[in-house]
Amino acid sequence: MFVVFAQHPNQSDLKEAVMQRRQALKLFAGLALCPLCAPTGFASESHWSYEGATGPEKWGGLDAADAACSAGGQQSPIDITAPISARQPPLRISWSKRPDTIVNNGHTIQLDFAEGDTLHMGDRRYALKQFHFHHPSEHLIEGKRFAMEAHFVHAGTDGLAVIGVLMVAGEPNAMFKKIVSTMPREEGSPVPADPAIDPGGLLPTQRAYCHYEGSLTTPPCSETVDWIVLTHPIEVDEDDIARFAKLYPMNARPVQNRDRRFILRSGPR
Ligand SMILES: [Zn+2]
Repeated sequence: MFVVFAQHPNQSDLKEAVMQRRQALKLFAGLALCPLCAPTGFASESHWSYEGATGPEKWGGLDAADAACSAGGQQSPIDITAPISARQPPLRISWSKRPDTIVNNGHTIQLDFAEGDTLHMGDRRYALKQFHFHHPSEHLIEGKRFAMEAHFVHAGTDGLAVIGVLMVAGEPNAMFKKIVSTMPREEGSPVPADPAIDPGGLLPTQRAYCHYEGSLTTPPCSETVDWIVLTHPIEVDEDDIARFAKLYPMNARPVQNRDRRFILRSGPR
């Protein structure tokens, strides 16, 4: 169904049109979910980089499958400014499983789950597939960039939900220390992850969040992501940030145009 705006569309027409487009994109992008499902997905997509001839400005033209990187209208990350306070479904994060493998895939350090835990957001259900790190943070809050950002990628029936956790230098975090101590220094195949690595140890106690509709921040940049960026950062040891940065001094995509997207902010809880 097409919505034609004769003159000025009202808000509900607009919202309906946006939702229809989004549903279509989610169906269309089903194939694009595969890189995130496969443990070695990123490694097989190593034609892109964070600078130079294959850097972010070029991603959209590197491969037909990556066209959304430049042609998309709902790209991530963004600078999160002036969010609208709204009643938002509480996040019910029930993570108890440990990641099976850890990999240095040439773009980041990533930990994968063969069978992941569950995230409930309202009546929607997602399974945790993997988490990985960016240095510096990809999302900004009111123009402020953070030292790092962790992304917890969950897959649902009609798209992805990614929880972004901002990271700042401060008190050491035992879980991040364990990851940095065991991460492969060289790019290669996944290896078994230390069984002591508990993803829950990387969550802040305050779970207030901002939600917006966006994309993967790496090729193919599919616009199938419900972003949940927690507004309270976690603290990690400055030395551990430096150890990660030694492998990946810069693996953050530049912020993208927000255009007319809403950002909804949950209340603190
Ligand atoms: Zn990411």
